[in-house]
Amino acid sequence: MKSWKIGRIVGIDIYLHFTFYLLFGFIIFSSVFSGGSMLSKTLLLTSVFSFVVLHELGHSLMARRFGIDTKEIVLYPIGGVAKILGQPKKPLEEVLIALAGPAVNIFLALVFFLLTTSISFPYRIADFLSTMLSLNLGLALFNLLPAFPMDGGRVIRAVLSYFKSPLEATKIAATIGKFFAGAFVLWGLYSSYYVLVFIGFFLWNAGSSEVKALEFQRSNQWNDFSRFRE
Ligand code: ZN
Repeated sequence: MKSWKIGRIVGIDIYLHFTFYLLFGFIIFSSVFSGGSMLSKTLLLTSVFSFVVLHELGHSLMARRFGIDTKEIVLYPIGGVAKILGQPKKPLEEVLIALAGPAVNIFLALVFFLLTTSISFPYRIADFLSTMLSLNLGLALFNLLPAFPMDGGRVIRAVLSYFKSPLEATKIAATIGKFFAGAFVLWGLYSSYYVLVFIGFFLWNAGSSEVKALEFQRSNQWNDFSRFRE
């Protein structure tokens, strides 16, 4: 589907998926009707997605250390995806690539924590900074859930691949991931938090396609498939 290039950082193209514009449209629409501040919502959204880009760049730069390139980073309304070309050679490399994303957010959370605790800002700025702190903490913790193909699930897959073949390890991790995906959908419907429903469907799909990609790779001895990283 159509995405627009919004920039290029450290040699990696950053794209905004077209559905993202629907989100901007929704913000304008809801601000007009609810009377909320469009500026503060846009600022919040821009911050969230800057943190997501930095998270994805964490994965990409760690992958680059191991000689693996990133084709592009695409931003969806529910999160970012770094399209990493190729597989790490060792499970430890996969663990380090998976943890590099959440590590960026933990680092940012620490910076915001130090800022809010060491300097006394005016109320509104202090409030904004503590929101940024919670956002980064939330991004790190959410991505560390053992829900393959999210980062925590990739760590599980890497650990499993010490005992199992890559395909078997992926299948087990994807099954655990589907359990979480199903739980996200049910919880999202129950709490009317529909973003979670979308994330659930996305995870379910992404898990299945990674298993299929590995099966395809095995049957074709084709090594250069792209791997999608949430
Ligand atoms: Zn990640």
